[in-house]
Amino acid sequence: MIEIQGLRKTYRAKGRRDRAVVAVDGVDLSVAEGDVFGVLGQSGAGKSTLLRCVNMLERPDEGTVTVGGVELTALKRRPLRLARHGIGMIHQHFALLSSRTVAGNVAFALEVTGVPRNERRERVAELLELVGLGGRADAYPGQLSGGQKQRVGIARALAARPKVLLSDEATSALDPETTDSILRLLLDLNQRLNLTILLITHEMTVVKRICRSAAVMREGRFVESGAVTDLLHRP
Ligand code: ADP
Ligand code: ADP
Repeated sequence: MIEIQGLRKTYRAKGRRDRAVVAVDGVDLSVAEGDVFGVLGQSGAGKSTLLRCVNMLERPDEGTVTVGGVELTALKRRPLRLARHGIGMIHQHFALLSSRTVAGNVAFALEVTGVPRNERRERVAELLELVGLGGRADAYPGQLSGGQKQRVGIARALAARPKVLLSDEATSALDPETTDSILRLLLDLNQRLNLTILLITHEMTVVKRICRSAAVMREGRFVESGAVTDLLHRP
């Protein structure tokens, strides 16, 4: 479902060629349909840059990114925007619009993807049910707990019925109990929707809890990768 080959991404400080940072330094990655794949690494390892290259929020300097059989790195702006609808993303700090209700936040994602107004209401209700927030459609983000906010983030990410969900430290701002309930929800969605999940985290417990496959990232490279059961049993 996700195929990455030879990915490199360097950041250059403006006008200062001497101060380049190689964030991703030649990564190959293959995530099968229906897998839950974790990229584990410390802060600065390049995880976030890698994830942002998967939906082309960052354009890689080198390498190819193919999602669901479509090579994103070969697409121009307009077709890329359409292809991106097939890739949902959730964030550490939720990234909700505080002036819109829970339903409004989810509906916004549907507006962007061109779902007609008369279908939106029903679809919003369906999405909120899916994430266990059926009763909170009219609440504002400021009235919700962290776990509830992330559920809104997940509903919004799934609005366009993507096949792939990218998770950028989605549970890092949550307490252990809430983390567990969000991870359970992700696993449930993985199974019910056959959703392929690629997550980045600095927490081994997250990988152990829901990932079937994982890679360890350090200084822009994968230093280990494979089935989680194998990785855990290595010396
Ligand atoms: P992680 O998600 O593992 O913490 P990042 O991908 O955020 O790693 O960062 C990898 C490296 O790239 C770090 O050295 C970071 O400082 C640098 N970096 C990330 N984003 C930018 C940016 N927009 N401009 C310049 N350097 C960046
Ligand atoms: P906001 O003020 O937050 O933008 P609106 O009330 O304008 O929210 O609603 C935006 C969209 O959200 C509506 O077009 C509708 O599709 C959807 N929506 C609003 N309230 C509900 C609800 N209770 N259940 C389902 N969908 C809703």
